[in-house]
Amino acid sequence: LTRSSGEGRSERPVIAIHAGAGDHGAELRGHEDECHAALLEALESARTALDQGLDATHAVQAAIVVMENFELFNAGRGATLCSDGAVEMSAALMRGSDRAAGAVAVVHHTENPILGARAVLDSPQVLVVGVPADELAAQAGVPQLPNEHFITERQRERLRDAAAELDRATVGAVCLDGEGLLAAGTSTGGIRGQPPGRVGDCPVIGAGTWADGHAAISCTGDGEAFIRCTAARHVAALVERGASVDAAAAQALQLVAELKFTGGLIAVDGEGNVALPYITSVMPRGLWRAGREPTTWVL
Ligand code: ASP
Repeated sequence: LTRSSGEGRSERPVIAIHAGAGDHGAELRGHEDECHAALLEALESARTALDQGLDATHAVQAAIVVMENFELFNAGRGATLCSDGAVEMSAALMRGSDRAAGAVAVVHHTENPILGARAVLDSPQVLVVGVPADELAAQAGVPQLPNEHFITERQRERLRDAAAELDRATVGAVCLDGEGLLAAGTSTGGIRGQPPGRVGDCPVIGAGTWADGHAAISCTGDGEAFIRCTAARHVAALVERGASVDAAAAQALQLVAELKFTGGLIAVDGEGNVALPYITSVMPRGLWRAGREPTTWVL
């Protein structure tokens, strides 16, 4: 079963965001208002970037910064903890026009990992990991904080509680701007209890994050499966060959399901068609299109 909502076609620009596909509905219940507010703020921040004349990559990073700063989402402060109790974060940003891409993984100190990914995108490299990734972000002016800053009591308790649902609140954004430029970004703390050094799909270009001239995609879910399916790139390749973004997105999730894993994704094509499918029970998400009111969904 592929659930979906908010899809359709419209004038550009268009911005779509997600805050993780999973079965963590019980975890979100009681926090719906805060989540809606954070999603709306993220859409608003992206829109402000576009209003200021910035391009789709800036809109994507603006939306993700807001979601990284929101403690109930699994990115930035409040991210899920590794088995050793530390937070390790990853993020990626990709521009469709020239496939410029930047990603960081296993960062411990960078306040907003998506801004670290931006610094890599602006460098000759594509993926930088560990201490040098934090250092590169620092050189680009991104504040560096002790790892304890990112660790919340809520996540400490969840690490202790083996029965707690997996944290599926990775965040992502895709945008088609007024000039027709596509961009995608994703940011995560990974999966609760992951061994230190484990990296999921989020910073793996083509797996969790992808943008080219045809589509921009950000994925969430069981990262290993999304890597094994190169899920994000798969969506864009199908769109390039003439599939609708809906059909392409559903097919990528089908590949993930065939491996017996789950997740969701958001995708926008060069005409502003959007797909927001997920094969889990929830995927908080939001959509704003030119000339319309922003819409958010939590449960
Ligand atoms: N895809 C992320 C990872 O595997 C987790 C998630 O989306 O919840 O690290």
